[in-house]
Amino acid sequence: MCMGGNKVVLKMAATYASERQQFGQPIGNFGAIKHKLAEMAIRNFATESATYRTSQLMQDKKNAEAAAGGSYGQSMLEAAEEYAIECSILKVLGSEVTDYCVDENVQIHGGIGYSEEYPAARAYRDSRINRIYEGTNEINRLLMIDQLFKRALKGELDIVSPAWAVQKELASMPSMERLEGPYAEETKAVADFKKIILMTAGGAAKMQMDGKLNLKEEQEIIMNCADMMIDLFAAESLLLRVRKLSEKQEKAQPQEVYDAMLQVFLHDATARMTKNATDGIASFAEGDLQKTFLMGLKRFNKYPAVNVKEKRRLIADAVLKAGGWCF
Ligand SMILES: Cc1cc2nc3c(=O)[nH]c(=O)nc-3n(C[C@H](O)[C@H](O)[C@H](O)COP(=O)(O)OP(=O)(O)OC[C@H]3O[C@@H](n4cnc5c(N)ncnc54)[C@H](O)[C@@H]3O)c2cc1C
Repeated sequence: MCMGGNKVVLKMAATYASERQQFGQPIGNFGAIKHKLAEMAIRNFATESATYRTSQLMQDKKNAEAAAGGSYGQSMLEAAEEYAIECSILKVLGSEVTDYCVDENVQIHGGIGYSEEYPAARAYRDSRINRIYEGTNEINRLLMIDQLFKRALKGELDIVSPAWAVQKELASMPSMERLEGPYAEETKAVADFKKIILMTAGGAAKMQMDGKLNLKEEQEIIMNCADMMIDLFAAESLLLRVRKLSEKQEKAQPQEVYDAMLQVFLHDATARMTKNATDGIASFAEGDLQKTFLMGLKRFNKYPAVNVKEKRRLIADAVLKAGGWCF
C-alpha cells in the first residue's frame, strides 16, 4: 500500500517539477529538487526490492508447508510466522519511506503544497497514520529484536557462531585481500553491515548475559539495532535485485541507473549504520571495551564514497523524463 502511494506521489512531484517555472526554468532543473526526486525513487525501489523478496520467500514457505500436507490456513500461518521479522521490517520501512515521499512532495509544491485544494496536502495527512497502526513503528522495532533473540535462544537461528567469528576477526590483522568481480564492493558492504550488527547486538547481549545490562530497560539500544537491521535488509534486497537486473537484457532503464540507486543507498546506509552502531556501543560500553568496538566499527564501514550528486541527477533525470516511476 505504501509503495503504491509512493509511486503516485512521485508522479505528482515529477509532473509539478516539470511544469512549475521559477527563475525562468522548470524547478526540476535545480539540483536541490533533483535530489528529492532521486531519493524518493531510491527509497521506494529499495522498499519494493525488500517486499518482493519477502513475498517470494513467504510464498515458497507456504507452498512447502502445503506440499507437506498442511492445510491452506496452517501453511499461510507458518509462512507468516517464519517471516515475522521481515514483515516488521517492511512495515516500518514502507511507512517511513512514504512519510519521506509525501513530505518532499509538499516541499516540491512549495506554498500550494500546504493548501488542501491540492492533492499533495491530502497525501501528507493520510500518510501519517501508517507509522501508527498495524503495530506502531516503535512496537515493530521492539518485535524485530525480540524475535531475533527468542529464535537464537530456541536454537532456531544461529547468531552466536557468526558473532564469535566477528570477534575473532576483530582480534586479527585486517585482511588486505583485493576485491574482484562485479558488485564486489557492494557485496562486501552488505557483509560488513551484518558484522556491524553482530558486533553491536552481540556485545549488548553479552553484557546482558553477564548481568551488566537489562535490554528490556534499554529501548534506545534496541531501536539502534532495529534501524540497522532495516538498513541491512533493504540494502541486501536492493543488491540482489540490481545484480539480477545486470544479467537481464530487457529492463525499463539502463543498468547504470539501477547501479546508481544501489550505490547511493549504500553510501547513505553506511553513514546511518555507523551512527546507529556508535550510539548503541556508547550506550552500553565504556573505556577499553568501547574503544575496541569503535575500532572494529572502522573496519566494517569502508564502502567507498560515491559521487552522490551525479548519481542522484542521473536517477532524477530518468524520473523527470518519464514523468514519474519508471523502474
Ligand atoms: C485511522 C485509524 C485506523 C485504525 N484502524 C484499526 C483497525 O482496523 N484495527 C485495530 O485493531 N486498530 C486500529 N487502529 C488502532 C491502532 O492500531 C492504534 O492506534 C495503535 O495500535 C496504537 O495504539 P494507541 O493508539 O493505543 O497508542 P499507544 O499504545 O498509547 O501508543 C502511544 C505511543 O507510545 C508508544 N508505545 C506504546 N507502548 C510502548 C512500549 N511498550 N514501548 C515503547 N513505546 C511504546 C507507541 O509506539 C506510540 O508512539 C486504528 C487507528 C487509527 C488512528
